[in-house]
Amino acid sequence: MKISEIVADGRPSLSFEVFPPKRRSASPSDRDAEQAAMARTKDVVRAIAALRPAFISVTYGAAGGTTGANTCALAQFVQADCGVPALAHMTCVAADRAKVAEEVRGFRAAGLENVLCLRGDCPPDTEFPGDPAFRHAVDLVRALRGEGFCLGGACYPEGHPECAHLADDIAHVKEKAEAGLDFLTTQMFFDNNVLFHYLARLRTAGVTVPVIAGVMPVTNGRQIARICALSGTYLPPRFRAIVDRFGDDPVAMLDAGVAYATEQIVDLFANGVANVHVYTMNKPEIAVRIMHNLHGLVGSR
Ligand code: FAD
Repeated sequence: MKISEIVADGRPSLSFEVFPPKRRSASPSDRDAEQAAMARTKDVVRAIAALRPAFISVTYGAAGGTTGANTCALAQFVQADCGVPALAHMTCVAADRAKVAEEVRGFRAAGLENVLCLRGDCPPDTEFPGDPAFRHAVDLVRALRGEGFCLGGACYPEGHPECAHLADDIAHVKEKAEAGLDFLTTQMFFDNNVLFHYLARLRTAGVTVPVIAGVMPVTNGRQIARICALSGTYLPPRFRAIVDRFGDDPVAMLDAGVAYATEQIVDLFANGVANVHVYTMNKPEIAVRIMHNLHGLVGSR
């Protein structure tokens, strides 16, 4: 099923994210380790798929396709074995035309219908490492449009860290959307007002594609404080207090993080943001608890 159909039906929906194991060398011991990691990840997927989310997304390594074939294989497992629509991520920062064509063939052979077109992160303080034909995600969108996939792209309610002005970043998102996107998914944010203001600016700028809100239930307080300091994500005082008080207590932080994300999602649904993507980071217990809290709002699919 295409994600464009899911977002078009207007009902509140929850989707979840998993990441596949990294590719390793072809040595027998590395191959065994990779297969064992894939088997564990499939257990995670089974547990999340049992919740009947709207879809499950599968991330892609930025550097040289460190997960490429595993992204495709895991997305195929989500769809074919678990019966849940899959969204395969794909990055272009280290790709060229041949690599992109190879991935497209693999995705098509696997029966995948949805692709999230991303640039991926450039290594810090270096020249753009890849093929200049794929300098930005918009280049990947242009390469994939016409291939029959439902295409998504990323957007950043607080602006992408490399872009000094939010207005310029929004102009780039608009260019990407007009190149052929069916939907956008946001970076995490912890204050819904940040999203509401961003959506207003996107719409004013003429970006009309549906936007899926990305929510991260934080269960490791110290780690998120570091990530947010690096990415410039705004941490509201209420959230900071939770991290300060419970950050060193994993059991308490899990409860508090799930409760905070649940409240955020209820508020998003209540204010007309129908589709929420939860960054579950291969932790089915988080997905189970979020779905348990919200099953009356989203129903089952
Ligand atoms: P782009 O859209 O190319 O934007 C990157 C920067 O370039 C922005 O600052 C933008 O303003 C600027 N820009 C865009 N177009 C132009 C232009 N024409 N001229 C000048 N500047 C321009 N990373 C992974 O490695 N794997 C994943 O699976 C993954 N999944 C993600 C999922 C979501 C929902 C999100 C929000 C991010 C994800 N990322 C992932 C991270 C993402 O790859 C990085 O944030 C990356 O730095 C930017 O990717 P992008 O697709 O937004 O790039």
